Amino acid sequence: MVMLRSILLKLSENKGFANWVITNGTTRRMSHRFVAGETLDEAIQASRQCNDAGMLVTLDCLGENVATPADAQKARDTYLGIFDRIAQEKLKANVSCKLTQLGLDLSVEFCEGLVLSLAERAAAYESFLRIDMESSIYTQRTVELVKRVRAQTPCVGAVIQAYLYRSESDIHDLLSYGCRVRLCKGAYQESAEVAFPRKSDVDGNYVKLMRTLLPSGFYHAIATHDPHMIAETIRCAAEKKISKDDFEFQMLYGVRTDIQRQLVCDGYRVRIYVPFGQEWFPYFMRRLAERPANLSFFVRNFIRS
Ligand SMILES: Cc1cc2nc3c(=O)[nH]c(=O)nc-3n(C[C@H](O)[C@H](O)[C@H](O)COP(=O)(O)OP(=O)(O)OC[C@H]3O[C@@H](n4cnc5c(N)ncnc54)[C@H](O)[C@@H]3O)c2cc1C
Repeated sequence: MVMLRSILLKLSENKGFANWVITNGTTRRMSHRFVAGETLDEAIQASRQCNDAGMLVTLDCLGENVATPADAQKARDTYLGIFDRIAQEKLKANVSCKLTQLGLDLSVEFCEGLVLSLAERAAAYESFLRIDMESSIYTQRTVELVKRVRAQTPCVGAVIQAYLYRSESDIHDLLSYGCRVRLCKGAYQESAEVAFPRKSDVDGNYVKLMRTLLPSGFYHAIATHDPHMIAETIRCAAEKKISKDDFEFQMLYGVRTDIQRQLVCDGYRVRIYVPFGQEWFPYFMRRLAERPANLSFFVRNFIRS
């Protein structure tokens, strides 16, 4: 299983395979299991359905590792438009984006300027900008950039991955700046030098970090579909008398909708990560890698088509 995950994550960086998957009608259709569509209109429709079901949304226009400043600026403009559209449509939604989509590979200063303009747009609408966390080669730059932007406009938050050894220290650092954190397990291929190789250790660290975040007095997001992590979070909130309104669960579009609905029924705040856009390939591959059953679903549908 570990080997399969590794292969899928390696393939997620392969341009030839990406072209084949993206241009194939069957795989494009299958991507809809995890991706709301290729257009903002489709994502707005999916967001409206989530809101109608009592769930909040964070919208992500898929894309990463842009090669030119013009591409990064284009992504920034898309996100500015998303904030405007969320406001026009009166959706209960905010925005998530990746720094490599905003030019982090090109220049930190350039990227920071774009993020600042997005954070200011978020502030103008009393909304929120979440900076997704990518692979560990970007962690330090991402944490530092979020802290700097946050010092100017507080409506920006970070993501911390429980599989990294450094995450406990990053959380204490971010909390000292009053930063809101989304806690997830981590979706990239990482070496044992930087990340816990064993799932049980990742899960143990997740619970430990969740127990640090929840009573910190800031509004955090517990992003997981793991029933055990969710139960531990509910237990911790009850123990520490933390109100259901003082944190939120977050889950991915199309994943464990049964748990999403149950949490809403139980009175918890649930936010759905709704990704859309044409650059869905790496995101789709990471979702396949998370669960081998997804791969057999993919292969079965492909053979049938
Ligand atoms: C809102 C949100 C934002 C995220 N942002 C980031 C980020 O910025 N950076 C980052 O590295 N990672 C991010 N992730 C991904 C995260 O790191 C994990 O890879 C992913 O959530 C799977 O971990 P899990 O906590 O659900 O636990 P797991 O132990 O992986 O899964 C627990 C159970 O959840 C279900 N499940 C999990 N994944 C899938 C799937 N793909 N398809 C079907 N069922 C599934 C299965 O039932 C599985 O048994 C995000 C996740 C969420 C929910």
